[in-house]
Amino acid sequence: MEDNTNNNNNNTTTEYEDICYMCRRPESVAGKMLKMTGNMCVCRDCMQKTFDMMSSGDNPLSELGISLFPGMGFPGMGYPGMQEIPKSQRLKKKAKPEPAEGGNAAQEGEEIPAFDFRKLPPPHKIREKLDEYVIGQDRAKKIISVAVYNHYKRVTKDAAGDIEIEKSNMLMIGPTGCGKTYLVQTLARILNVPLAITDATSLTEAGYIGDDVESVLSKLLKAADNDVERAESGIVFIDEIDKIAKKKNTNSRDVSGESVQQGLLKLLEGADVEVPVGASSKNAMVPMTTVNTRNILFICGGAFPDLEEIVKNRLSKQSSIGFNADLKDKYDNDPDILDKVTNEDLREFGLIPEFIGRLPIVYSLRGLNEEMLVKIMKEPKNAILKQYQKLLALDEVDLQFEDDALMAIAKKALEKKTGARGLRSIIEEFMLDIMYEIPKDDSIGRVFITGDYIEGKGGPRIEMRGQGRIPMQAGG
Ligand code: ADP
Repeated sequence: MEDNTNNNNNNTTTEYEDICYMCRRPESVAGKMLKMTGNMCVCRDCMQKTFDMMSSGDNPLSELGISLFPGMGFPGMGYPGMQEIPKSQRLKKKAKPEPAEGGNAAQEGEEIPAFDFRKLPPPHKIREKLDEYVIGQDRAKKIISVAVYNHYKRVTKDAAGDIEIEKSNMLMIGPTGCGKTYLVQTLARILNVPLAITDATSLTEAGYIGDDVESVLSKLLKAADNDVERAESGIVFIDEIDKIAKKKNTNSRDVSGESVQQGLLKLLEGADVEVPVGASSKNAMVPMTTVNTRNILFICGGAFPDLEEIVKNRLSKQSSIGFNADLKDKYDNDPDILDKVTNEDLREFGLIPEFIGRLPIVYSLRGLNEEMLVKIMKEPKNAILKQYQKLLALDEVDLQFEDDALMAIAKKALEKKTGARGLRSIIEEFMLDIMYEIPKDDSIGRVFITGDYIEGKGGPRIEMRGQGRIPMQAGG
């Protein structure tokens, strides 16, 4: 009989795997569960163990005042203190082909692939899509498009053979706010794969305060709606990777630096990893599952301050002997200096060789200049200016930004040294008054944001409706 009180759990019951309340293993590992009252499940192994204990008169929980199966036969009663396992900790059931007529289960080898590589766009198409959102960073976009294409191509069954194609894990170097995270987010959206973004600074060696390295996979699993198969073809972006460089001159154990790099090795390479479901660290109450990282694409990013200096020193050392000796400051103003980075430089920075070896694709992103910031404000598909224009168009007001206003905003953002990240807050500040005042007056038809307004030397220019010069915009 259907239990009305459980109606809100129907989804969870059908879509997600059951988890044993005693050993916390999911259905796919522990086998079919015995359902108890209150949506609780116990696997056959645990049930058997319990019966064994009961028949030997041994109850390990009695010291805690817990009797075995107190609720048996009495609906509604379960273990004291036991609560239903939340959805965030439950795994999606594996997709299987519909059983054939006659109730045959799925045929072997007929799994539905989680990521359909046949729909994978070729590199130039990936690049075109990235261009719609990300301004500049042309070299990075080209490298990333090819690397991602190759990475997912190797996932295919056809690619499996004698020659093992290596993973295309990447290391992105670039100053803050230049679009590293944005590039990866856009990529995941284009490819429609789950994405987890984590910060390397939150990771520590297992057993210390902080998240275990496996937590990056827990996040990916969450992004994939706890569907292990989908997560296994996802992307993990680990930001601030430069912060886990080996600490120099330290006598204590480097639990948040070198040890984290060591911990990440097996993930980057491709291994079966035990992952806590719906939590950032392992403990007895968290269900675990196994995630294979062979096809997960890892992208690490960081600003790597001082790396430029390391590259420059190496290059000028090379050229300080003999006829080239006068080239010493040649690299001081070289904007492409980080393109010349080698594994040796990264090692000197503090990454361990094994870690560098598992990130075969290294490239850098440029710091943004005024011109690029202006483009970022107006050109991408969801550019900030387009968003404000749309908002005001809903009030039938036409919003225009003059060129010198955009330049002034870009200048202010550059001063903040936070790259494009500062743009929104600057524009927000100036738009606040406008968004507040405009709806008061129906006769306003067009607003021009001028350079003087941004620089605090004047106000925005306003044109009223009915002056004959303003074509009315339909709302939207
Ligand atoms: P970081 O390099 O520090 O990871 P982000 O990618 O988080 O920087 O950039 C912050 C925001 O700035 C993004 O959400 C995006 O809106 C904008 N942005 C940064 N760089 C670009 C770019 N090259 N093109 C378009 N937008 C960008």
